[in-house]
Parts: sequence; structure tokens; C-alpha cells
Amino acid sequence: MSDVRAIALGDNTAYLVQRGGTRLLVDTGPDYAGAWEALRDALGGEPPDVVVATHGHHDHAGLGARWRAEGVPVWLGAADAPLTERPPLQSAAEAAAHLAWAEGAGAPPATLAHVRERIAARREAARLAAESPDHPDGDGRWPTGLRYPPFRASALIDGDAAIAGVELLAAPGHTPGNLVLAVREEGWLFSGDQLLPHVDPLPAIQFTAAGGGLARFPTLPRFAASLERLADGGFTRCFPGHGQPFDGAAEAIAGALGRIERRCARVRESLRGAGPATVHGLCERLYPRAASRRWWQTASSLQGQLDLLEWRGEAAERAGLWEAR
Ligand SMILES: [Zn+2]
Repeated sequence: MSDVRAIALGDNTAYLVQRGGTRLLVDTGPDYAGAWEALRDALGGEPPDVVVATHGHHDHAGLGARWRAEGVPVWLGAADAPLTERPPLQSAAEAAAHLAWAEGAGAPPATLAHVRERIAARREAARLAAESPDHPDGDGRWPTGLRYPPFRASALIDGDAAIAGVELLAAPGHTPGNLVLAVREEGWLFSGDQLLPHVDPLPAIQFTAAGGGLARFPTLPRFAASLERLADGGFTRCFPGHGQPFDGAAEAIAGALGRIERRCARVRESLRGAGPATVHGLCERLYPRAASRRWWQTASSLQGQLDLLEWRGEAAERAGLWEAR
């Protein structure tokens, strides 16, 4: 017998899964003012036996340090350890890698100046979230902004694992060490940010350590492969990391894969029809309004689609210029 309870925490939803006498919390909860108290109340004052963070983003793993301080084990996908152990963008190399990506994408000087400011602002916000004793100002998604004190997970999961019959499935893409959880005989999928009710997560620009330096992690090819893996999982009900649980998990997975295909087809057709282009050139061709207003989001989405086309041998890049194959 399995039992599940959704716990709404601002824009996030955590889940208490009870199975075979084990109480497992899916996601640590985000760390806004009052979140810890609300979560403890929802759990009836009794801590879970184990917390599994689906991934290392601040809204899914923000209370990890708090649970660790309480002596509750927190499990995490191994490749996400850098996300919980230190705030993002604090090293000069990581900030430089983000800027170098924007330069390589063909962003014009005015856009690059804006990108530089944005990286500096994100860097400072991440430092404050990690170090400040107070909660920062919010953007309205949670009651206040989120803190994210760094922590070391008690177990780093490499590949798949299981706790008390709850499967932990490696689903890299959204982050390098992203996990989803499954209770197979109930048809339940705890999807974190892998599958959300009303939105597809943007493919992020992210870097992982490689050979003493940093290498860009191709988000969308991994994300799509993880969805394809879950498409065969026989899931009927999805418990997402944001919003309400919903039925029709398999249909939602098929829908998400279909949207990825359509966006990629648009990029491929543009490269075939109008010729090679930089990432920035494709932004201007396909999303001209967004290219000026929300360059980073638009360009990182297109980069994701190009990565997927390259993965399939349908596009190739030379000196920043992408062409169809
Ligand atoms: Zn996330």
C-alpha cells in the first residue's frame, strides 16, 4: 500500500510518500520565510525518514541544509552535487564560460553588455541567497525570495536506485543529475521539473567540470532522452514539482515530446530554407520580438534545439555558424 500527500509551498509542491512504513519526502521544499514551519506542520511535526531532492535548483533543494541539520538524510543525483555544495556563478571561470557562450552565439555588443550585467546580478543574487541570514526580496512566486544555504547530500545517486520500493530514476537534462521518482505498481511518477502541467522548462545554459575546465552540458538532448525513457514507464498519474497532481501522465509526456519535435523542426527548416545562421541569427529570424526583449531565454532555447539536431546528425556547427545536414 502506498499513500501520497501533496504539500503546496508557494510556487512549489513537495510530496510525502508513505510506503512499507517508510516516509519519504520528494524535494526538500524551498527556503522562503515561513516555509520550514509550514512544511513541518504539514508533516505533523514528524520528520520523514529520507528526503530526495529531484535536482539541485534552489526551489527544489533549498531546505536541504535544514534537513541535514535535523539529522534527516538528503539524497541527490550525483551530478547535481556541485549545485548544492556551492552557489552558482561564484567562480570567475563559470561566469566567463556563460559570457563566452553568448559571444559564440553571435550576440551583438549591446546585448553582450546586457548579458554581462545579468550574469553579475545573478552571481550577486546567488551569493546573497547562500550567505544572507534574511530572505531576499521575492518575485511573487513564493511568499518571499528564496535562500539557498549550501549543503552536502548524505547520498549521491549515480544511475537508478530505490528506497522502500520507490524507484529513483536518473533523468538527466533539466540538470545533469536530475532524478524522477516512481511507484510503478500505482502508475505514479514524481516528475520534479521534468514534466509540468502547463509549461515546458527552458533548456538552460549549464556547464559541468571536464578535464580540468568546464564543458557545456547539452540540456535538451538529455532532457528529451529522459522523457522518451519515461514514455515507456506505464505512468498514469503525475506529481509535478510545481502545481497540482494530474492524470494522463503518459499523454502529457507524449505532448511534451511533440512540442520539442515541432520547435526543432522549425529550426531545421529555417537552416535549410534560409541558410546557415548563428544562434543569434536564428533568434532574429524565428523570434524577432523575443530576441530583443528576452535574449538569454530565447537564445538558450534555440541552443537546446540546435544541440538536439546536432545530436541526431541533422545540424552541425562551424565557428559559431550552424547549418543543416
Ligand atoms: Zn528546476
